Amino acid sequence: MNYNSTRNKNTVVTASQAIAQGISEEGGLFVPQSLPKYSIEDIKSLAAADYRGRAKKIFGDFLGDFTEQEISESVDAAYTVEKFGSENPAPISYIESGSTKMSILELWHGPTCAFKDMALQILPHLLTKSLSKTYAGKEAVILVATSGDTGKAALEGFKDVDGTRIMVFYPVNGVSPMQKRQMATQKGSNVSVVAIEGNFDDAQTGVKKIFTNSGIKAKLAENNKLFSSANSINWGRLLPQVVYYFSAYCDMVNEGKISLGDKINVVVPTGNFGNILASFYAMNMGLPVNKFICASNSNNVLTDFIRTGTYDKQRKFYTTISPSMDILVSSNLERLLYHLTDGNAEKVADWMGKLSSEGKYTVDEDVKAKLASLFYGGFCDDENTQKTIAELYKEENYLCDTHTAVAVNVYQQYVEETKDLTPAVIASTASPYKFAKSVLEAVSDDELPGDEFSMVEELSAKTKTPVPAPLASLRDAQVRFTLECRVDEMPDVVLESLSIK
Ligand SMILES: *Cc1c(COP(=O)(O)O)cnc(C)c1O
Repeated sequence: MNYNSTRNKNTVVTASQAIAQGISEEGGLFVPQSLPKYSIEDIKSLAAADYRGRAKKIFGDFLGDFTEQEISESVDAAYTVEKFGSENPAPISYIESGSTKMSILELWHGPTCAFKDMALQILPHLLTKSLSKTYAGKEAVILVATSGDTGKAALEGFKDVDGTRIMVFYPVNGVSPMQKRQMATQKGSNVSVVAIEGNFDDAQTGVKKIFTNSGIKAKLAENNKLFSSANSINWGRLLPQVVYYFSAYCDMVNEGKISLGDKINVVVPTGNFGNILASFYAMNMGLPVNKFICASNSNNVLTDFIRTGTYDKQRKFYTTISPSMDILVSSNLERLLYHLTDGNAEKVADWMGKLSSEGKYTVDEDVKAKLASLFYGGFCDDENTQKTIAELYKEENYLCDTHTAVAVNVYQQYVEETKDLTPAVIASTASPYKFAKSVLEAVSDDELPGDEFSMVEELSAKTKTPVPAPLASLRDAQVRFTLECRVDEMPDVVLESLSIK
């Protein structure tokens, strides 16, 4: 199994090259040349395995130049009971609200309390193995732009991993206080964290520019280093996410919620389009999916795109209470376009060129039609997000975070509009305690206490739910990182921190 670039069909790399490089030379993203196909019988045998067993099978089918043992070691090291709290790292909570049934796939039981752990606990294992195959002896410098959760999950995954250095850039006013504290207190000898003046898109663009700057790349090469990426543009981030959609389906079959072969709807609170794209890959491999429901907050560029076929990033940027979705340029959409055009790299390169030069592009009628038949796009503002949290808590006694609430709200809009009651899997992407202020405000009429940790405690007392241990321990953790910089200073900050300026 090899990989092409979305912008150049002549680029062909192995799995380990795709993971080590992160992004293709000409700025395209790596996509599998073909997909393994699973029959219902294959899904039945996946259902007989546990999460790690399912992961090993799927990884094995994609990582052509990895040995079985390498895959097995990586999976066993990543998805442990110690890290995820139980044998199943992605359990489902079933909720019935009126005639709608929701299967809430909780992806946030890992060490940083967001779904990013599902991929970033295994990526360091895949990446170090990839590097030893392709660039033996070189140090990987991992640059990460984050809207909050990726940064912490990447830091936690890569801390003190031999042969790696990791630098995280986050928008100074674009993350929650808990997210900021998680990153500023990060332990490890190979980590740095920098706040940038700008929003997430500025951070992401800044990082992409550094990646493709030949002067900086040459300097790294002289010093026996190379750049790599832990953002969801890296194939090694997406692949682990394919696993939990299959796993959720298997669990639902095993738990008698659906029968083998039944279709499901998949609902995903979306930012960079990584999580929902993973479910699209799962469907193309044989997972029975009826509809993908793409949920956005007020930054509803994807809703408009799905409905009109025009992607237009020139619009007001909103800072919302679901900050991990405050994104106007959804990088992974590029992969979807590649697949919906049956691998037309020229067309994709043209659209991406237009996006950066004119700020928008419009897809062809046939792509638009495919989009509309597969996807439903909807959005939900902050007020309705909090209303949804309150309702779900009061009526179903289920506490969810702001991102998950956006998904639930958009799903309710979808059901209202279409009356489609296909069983729905809703991706729950963060612990409510990561966004304690907005969640507490939603479920409590009392005046809010002043600081973040008092809010966390009050949320716990009020809802009788436990504070996740990794967040509770942050209260007394020491702040290690306070640096802020402008976007144009990012290259210098990187070189300085590597002491090769
Ligand atoms: C990253 C993130 C999202 C968005 O996921 P994408 O893969 O970027 O679409 C949603 N919710 C939370 C909590 C996140 O951390």
